[in-house]
Amino acid sequence: MAIKSDIEIARAARKKPIFEIGATLGIPAEHLAPYGHDKAKVRAEFIAAQAGKKDGRLILVTAINPTPAGEGKTTTTVGLGDGLNRIGKKAVVCIREASLGPCFGVKGGAAGGGYAQVIPMEDINLHFTGDFHAVTAAHNLLAAMIDNHIYWGNELDIDLRRVTWRRVMDMNDRALREMVSSLGGVANGFPRQNGFDITVASEVMAILCLATDLNDLEVRLGNIIIGYRRDKTPVYARDLKADGAMAVLLKDAMQPNLVQTLENNPAFVHGGPFANIAHGCNSVIATKTALKLGDYVVTEAGFGADLGAEKFFDIKCRKAGLKPDAAVIVATVRALKMNGGVKKEDLAAENVAALVKGCSNLGRHLANVRKFRVPVVVAINHFVSDTDKEIAAVQDYVARHGAEAILCRHWAEGSAGIEDLAYKVVELAESGQARFEPLYADGVPLFEKIEIVASKIYHAGEVTADKAVRDQLIVWEEQGYGNLPVCMAKTQYSFSTDPNLRGAPEGHIVPVREVRLSAGAGFVVVITGEIMTMPGLPKSPSAERIFLNEQGYIEGLF
Ligand code: ADP
Ligand code: MG
Repeated sequence: MAIKSDIEIARAARKKPIFEIGATLGIPAEHLAPYGHDKAKVRAEFIAAQAGKKDGRLILVTAINPTPAGEGKTTTTVGLGDGLNRIGKKAVVCIREASLGPCFGVKGGAAGGGYAQVIPMEDINLHFTGDFHAVTAAHNLLAAMIDNHIYWGNELDIDLRRVTWRRVMDMNDRALREMVSSLGGVANGFPRQNGFDITVASEVMAILCLATDLNDLEVRLGNIIIGYRRDKTPVYARDLKADGAMAVLLKDAMQPNLVQTLENNPAFVHGGPFANIAHGCNSVIATKTALKLGDYVVTEAGFGADLGAEKFFDIKCRKAGLKPDAAVIVATVRALKMNGGVKKEDLAAENVAALVKGCSNLGRHLANVRKFRVPVVVAINHFVSDTDKEIAAVQDYVARHGAEAILCRHWAEGSAGIEDLAYKVVELAESGQARFEPLYADGVPLFEKIEIVASKIYHAGEVTADKAVRDQLIVWEEQGYGNLPVCMAKTQYSFSTDPNLRGAPEGHIVPVREVRLSAGAGFVVVITGEIMTMPGLPKSPSAERIFLNEQGYIEGLF
């Protein structure tokens, strides 16, 4: 039997009208703002009215250090949501929106895969409800107001060489990374070095995802630092009076988007901050709304648990007062073999020895998640190439480390293939074992926060940084930013800063190259290694294989 592509499966789904999906969560039709028949935004008034209600259980789906293709976190998040509904729980999925960059680049869509997807996947992967366009517009409005302010006399005394606010576009376009703007004469302003980032790397995106309501959104937008004066004092978006208009552009984007899974269960798809320069989680407002409406909320954090789960706990949960009840670590036999030294092209062949070696990576993530005092279970996302011996080896390893690894076939079978995991998650969440605690207290000095993450999560021996970096952190502490959490930017392929160092390395050095203050989002970005804020397309991008067929349907969006 030929394996169907994600888009073929999605297109064959029997969708229900979005009002019916809303009704399963008790959202009256008048509180849904429909975008077509199968997508809707939940109105702010309805969300505000849920405030007094009891919260459901919060489940985080995270993963081991991945292969370049991803390990199926989104697929497992969606599958687990369906699995919980199948065993009689009212569960809601909360995931991020897709960026056009990876969609047309190398990774493909972000709506899950196989028989565990959210639909309409074409819309979700493309323009959806326009949230990313709104973020792009709000970000670029601020950029335009900066150059306009300088053009009309620069009353705020912004240092042209120290403008940190760049422009954004939701596309992988390396040509825009570095440029000179305002060329062409007096009428076009003052030429300065400039550049574009991808929209998901915008601080506006991180703000949208951390803001609790429209008022909080506007305050945070005002707190954005756009650059510095000659004396290095910061200039804020509010100094330019940009915050009000930016909030106006984001008014609708702030409302969570409701869609459905292939099995007609509710899912919120909202927000999409980059997992490197930002915290990589869906919006706080969607998660909090889902907690009011469902018994279980299943959500995903970007990259492996060293980055994704750590930032979910230390940034999103800390800031939003969320208390996760259980965590699922997604592992694949393929990625474990890769962590055991197998090359990408050899992943299909059985190799128990390499797999067992690579399990050290899983063991480290298990121990790490427990440091946040959240109970954990491993989901083996089954691939057709996995052998029985390999699966048994993973289960055996995990059992020896005091947890359970459950084989999940949701990609091939939908909710029927993930019942065991659903029951286990319910058992863990209901056990009352969770005593969530972030890794460090707010009051710990910024550099020490970095050291705590590096030693406890990465098992590094040392954090190094130039004097300029350390001094900068001290200046921010003096300016009152010392209580912020750190947002680590590191390769997703390793616990270290070297993407080739797989498994569970120890004693390595974490060199901090640069630190950036996201005063609006409310974190300090700590950059270790190369960081990409505007990705490029590969030699043969997916875009070359995406087209409309004779019936007018999209092909090639996998
Ligand atoms: P992540 O969220 O970890 O980045 P995704 O869930 O987006 O990963 O999955 C990445 C890709 O892998 C998707 O194209 C998906 O269809 C595919 N995939 C996921 N699970 C499986 C599986 N069990 N077998 C085959 N392909 C899978
Ligand atoms: Mg994902």
